[in-house]
Amino acid sequence: MKITFLGTSSMVPTAKRNHISIFLEYEDEGILVDCGEGTQRQFKKAKIRPTKITRLLITHWDGDHTLGIPGLIQTLAGDEYSKTLKIYGPKGTKERLKELLKIFFTDKLKMEVFEVKEGIVAETEKFKIEARKLEHRPLTYGYAFIEKDKRKIDISYLKRKHGLGSHPVLKDLKLGKAIVWKGKKITPKEATYVEEGKKVAFVFDTKYCENAVQLAKNADIAIAEATFSKEFQKKAGEYYHMTSVDAAKLAKKAKAKKLVLTHFSQRYKDVSQILAEAKAIFKNTEAAEDMMQIKL
Ligand SMILES: [Zn+2]
Repeated sequence: MKITFLGTSSMVPTAKRNHISIFLEYEDEGILVDCGEGTQRQFKKAKIRPTKITRLLITHWDGDHTLGIPGLIQTLAGDEYSKTLKIYGPKGTKERLKELLKIFFTDKLKMEVFEVKEGIVAETEKFKIEARKLEHRPLTYGYAFIEKDKRKIDISYLKRKHGLGSHPVLKDLKLGKAIVWKGKKITPKEATYVEEGKKVAFVFDTKYCENAVQLAKNADIAIAEATFSKEFQKKAGEYYHMTSVDAAKLAKKAKAKKLVLTHFSQRYKDVSQILAEAKAIFKNTEAAEDMMQIKL
């Protein structure tokens, strides 16, 4: 799994920070979370082909999260994107996309649009995506990418104990079923182990709230907005945003393994103060920069 921070600013982009967008690559899936202005150019800088996108998750329809959508769709249509792009967003997403397409004449692209409600909004054999409503204006959802646990076969045990190497019969063991080999029963309990799936949470934009904590619960990486430093605590609340302290408290309460801060206000040329404030509460914190990548 690879996470690329394509943009890390909030309402106004700066010379160093593009509007917010994060790209998560997992096997043959490419999940783009929000698509601020200029996101497709950030793909070029990151040397990632935008045609890798399989799903777009829209947290809400503020411009800093969505202004890049028409340009991106136009490019994908021009690249003869052969997949069906799955788009998820709050109620109203279908209507807004329809209007955008009307303006930009990009009806070539195959799209499937889902207006999300709280709960699991997408699920495959290997992962699921959860949405939870956050506290922001307008209607906003946060998302969590949850990889499913994997049952792995203990090959060295099987070879040693049963003289069984790679064989089609192992498929059943992988599914958690007992098998019979040379007259002997082999149970999944003795011959397999479970590798816990990874979880990545995307929490923006919002005030500190319980749903944000739930999204980040036991996450390997909680990516959260820290629009302001703590001196603007009151202002942050009024604008339905979080500070460094809110984000750190959230990660701590959620027992996340790592916190990555993003969505910084343009007022910060340097976010070291925000980072230090968060680290004082939750040590394993990092501040995202455009083009930063994390492998999991
Ligand atoms: Zn925003």
